[in-house]
Amino acid sequence: MTDCLFCKIVSRDVPAEIVREGERVVAFRDINPQAPTHVLVIPKDHHPTVAELADADAGLLGEVLGEAHRVAEDEGVADGGYRVVFNTGAQAGQTVFHVHAHILGGRGLNWPPG
Ligand code: 5GP
Repeated sequence: MTDCLFCKIVSRDVPAEIVREGERVVAFRDINPQAPTHVLVIPKDHHPTVAELADADAGLLGEVLGEAHRVAEDEGVADGGYRVVFNTGAQAGQTVFHVHAHILGGRGLNWPPG
């Protein structure tokens, strides 16, 4: 999608600090980190929400989740614990409608989230 921010990160039209890249997924640091580790994992294909990705390509969703764990390992937070979050819909705080997993770690995380 030409007007999608995260599609532009995939195409390198918008710069980002990319930490991992595979054939179908990309991981990059969040521009406004909420924890010492805050990385976003996205599919290169455009799907607005995790619900739509699950319906369209469950295998790709599995790749996103696998990549999330590899990011946590690379960042050194896999053993201590980390959180994978898909904000889904505006009321849940989703602001970019290209599905992304937030990988958050490196500090204690409260439950329930705000
Ligand atoms: P959402 O609110 O949709 O769940 O998450 C969107 C995330 O994208 C936010 O955490 C926000 O900080 C991040 N973000 C927004 N614009 C950019 C950008 O241009 N580059 C990067 N790396 N992250 C961004």
